[in-house]
Amino acid sequence: MDQAFQLMLRDVFDNNIPGLIEKLGFFINPLILKFRKENGRLLVFTFHGLFESEKQKALNHIDPQNNMLACQFEELIDYFLNHKYKFISPEDITGGLNKEQPYAMITFDDGYFNNYLAIDILRKYQIPSVFFISTKFIVENRSYWWDIIYKYRMKQGKNINTIRNEQEYLKGLKFRLIENYILKNFAIEAFKPWSDIDRPFNENEVKSNSKSPLVSFGNHTHNHAILTKYTKEEIIEEFRISNKIIFDLTGTLPITTAFPNGNFNDHVLEATEEEGFRFAFTTKQKVNFLPFVQENLVCLNRFMTKPGNISRFGSFCRLDYFPDGLYFGMRNQMAYLMNRSSSKAKIQQ
Ligand SMILES: [Zn+2]
Repeated sequence: MDQAFQLMLRDVFDNNIPGLIEKLGFFINPLILKFRKENGRLLVFTFHGLFESEKQKALNHIDPQNNMLACQFEELIDYFLNHKYKFISPEDITGGLNKEQPYAMITFDDGYFNNYLAIDILRKYQIPSVFFISTKFIVENRSYWWDIIYKYRMKQGKNINTIRNEQEYLKGLKFRLIENYILKNFAIEAFKPWSDIDRPFNENEVKSNSKSPLVSFGNHTHNHAILTKYTKEEIIEEFRISNKIIFDLTGTLPITTAFPNGNFNDHVLEATEEEGFRFAFTTKQKVNFLPFVQENLVCLNRFMTKPGNISRFGSFCRLDYFPDGLYFGMRNQMAYLMNRSSSKAKIQQ
C-alpha cells in the first residue's frame, strides 16, 4: 500500500475511532456495570480550578482546559455517592480500608482561590479533599504561568493550537527559564492575577481552611517544578521549602505530594520517600486496587476530570478504561505484532 495512503487512513482512524468507542461505551458501560463488583478499589480524581458560572468561564482569566463549573464538580460527587462509593482522605487509608466497599478520593492541584467553591460543596456532603498547593504562588500572590500564556495570548487573538504549543514548550523548562520567558514576553505585571478567578489562595486562607477537618494540604513543590527536569538535590529542596511553608501555616507536615504535570522518575521517587511522604499522586489514569502495601511510599493513580457528561465519564473510570487509551493501546499492539511477523518473514527468506 502506498505510504501516503496508509498515513491518511491512520489519520481517519485516529480521528474517528475513539469517538465511536465512546458512543458505544455510553450504552454498553452501564450494562456491564450492572454485573460488575466494584469493591476493593479506589478512584482518585484530579481537579484544578472551578468556575461559578459559564459567564465567569467566558472571561478567559484562566485556561479552561482542566477546569469545570462548580455544579459539575457537585454532579461528580452525586454520581459516585449514588453508586455507593465512599469518599475518603489519605489518612483513612493509613487507618486501613475495608475491601467490601468501593472508594473515591477528591484532590485539587495548584491552589486556586476559586477552590473555595469546592470547600462549600465538600461541607454540604461532609466529604474530605486534599489540596496540593505550589507554595511560591501562594506566598507571592502570583498568577500561574500557564494561565498567563493563555489569557494574554487569547487577548492577542492567537489561535488555540499556537497557545497549546507554547505551553507545551514551557513545560520542558525549569521554573527560572519559564519566569524569564514570561518577563521577556509580557513584562513583570503579567505575574499579577487579574481577579479572584485566577489568583491563588493567600496565606491566611490556607491557614483558615486548614482548620476544617475536611481539608488537608499536600505538597505540589514550591515552584510547580516539573521534577524530572531537576537533580535529586533540587527536588529535595522543592519539597522542603514547600513543606516548611505548609507546616508554618497549618501546623501539619504534609504526608502527600502530587507531582506537577504528573512527571516522575527514580530520582523523584527516591526523594519523595526520603522526605517522608506516605502517598505520591501521579496522573496515570487508572483505578487503584486494594490492599496498599504501606511500609513504603504508596503511589496512587488519578483520573483527570473533564467537564461534560459526568455519568458518561464516570462509567469509563469505573470500568478502568478510556476510549482513546483503549484505541491507541490496540493500535500500538497491532503495529508491534505486524512488525514482528514481517521481520520473521524476512528472516525466513
Ligand atoms: Zn499542578
